[in-house]
Amino acid sequence: MKKRVALLGATGSIGKSTLDVIRAGCDDFELVLISGHTNAASLSALSGEFKNAKTVLSGSGDGREKLLAAISGIKADITVNGISGAAGLEPSFAAINSGSDLALANKETVVMAGPLLFRTAAEKKVKILPVDSEHSGVFHLIAAHGDANIDEIILTASGGPFRKFTIDQMRKVTPREALAHPTWNMGPKITIDSASLANKGLEVIEAAQLFNVSAEKIRVVVHPQSVVHSMVRMKDGAVFAQLSEPDMRLPVHEALYWPEVKVSSWGKLDFDCLNLEFEKPDMEKFPMLPLAYEAVRRGGLNPCAYNGANEIAAAAFLNSEIGFLDIPRIVEYVLTGDWEGHGEGIRTILEADKKARDMALAFIKKESEEKR
Ligand code: NDP
Ligand code: MG
Repeated sequence: MKKRVALLGATGSIGKSTLDVIRAGCDDFELVLISGHTNAASLSALSGEFKNAKTVLSGSGDGREKLLAAISGIKADITVNGISGAAGLEPSFAAINSGSDLALANKETVVMAGPLLFRTAAEKKVKILPVDSEHSGVFHLIAAHGDANIDEIILTASGGPFRKFTIDQMRKVTPREALAHPTWNMGPKITIDSASLANKGLEVIEAAQLFNVSAEKIRVVVHPQSVVHSMVRMKDGAVFAQLSEPDMRLPVHEALYWPEVKVSSWGKLDFDCLNLEFEKPDMEKFPMLPLAYEAVRRGGLNPCAYNGANEIAAAAFLNSEIGFLDIPRIVEYVLTGDWEGHGEGIRTILEADKKARDMALAFIKKESEEKR
């Protein structure tokens, strides 16, 4: 029987990768729901191609309610969440509450609501399968080696386009320069996050929540080629790594077929021309990384605040309202708030997200008024 797949964010970069995997596996998968937010033309073309799939454009009028109702009603076997940002949170919960497994690219869901997500998934007896490439790698390494004897999880970071820039050069970078990622082709928000290393910060938080480990057990290593996606160091010192070409179709393929392993044409490495470098991340140049570690250590709603503040700051930078180095300043400021509580329910989490965004917006407004 074919697996019934719902694809959220079909018009984006993860959406595109997922559609390729589904096209290649048309004997194994049936697309039952596809969503886009603003790109009506692309969604309409997809509804022509996948005639049996329900389509929802969430960006207009009551689109959001329609999207949540469609996810709940369709009862897919597996839902791929490729929505960008905190907007992916409620769709993730709608999917698992309907009894669907969740292939999660939307790392914000885990960052904002990790403990609640895993509790709910256990209650509903559904699986959460990470699609973020590093976490997909760790997930498979743990499946192969068990988690009892793992001493450290190692996430690689490409280092982004400003790896070799001085702080002075970084002060002046434009959104256009930040959008030119050296190894991955992704949506705009995650590309800005990759340049500031906020993406790696979010991934440290994501790993802590997904694999239930403390911040001290997660190391970030800069690896400009993005071929090694993640590693685990065992208690005896052995390090196991996951390697593949940077191509998101592979982690999507793995999540959709899990626990089966099926032949694919994605991500094959050519060892004849492989050169792998590793270096230490510069925590001073990229404060979004130490700030993420701090958010994990403090716990409670700090990770949610980190994410909300960063979304506002990244959007303001993309709109040329603030400078690149203002992004960590804004997040650092927002983390001075009271984030002691716990995300017992979606409402508490959404309230904390709103509070973090409001604090970030007020900070930006105040500074821009002072500059006038
Ligand atoms: P894109 O910007 O390319 O795509 C985002 C998708 O979400 C689009 O389909 C967009 O619709 C839809 N969308 C945007 N806003 C909303 C909203 N408010 N409600 C519902 N849908 C919305 O992003 P990416 O594909 O790059 O990233 C998606 C997620 O996957 C992010 O969480 C990112 O961190 C994660 N991820 C991405 C990777 C990548 O390689 N791209 C790698 C690892 C993780 P429309 O375009 O129609 O407006
Ligand atoms: Mg990643």
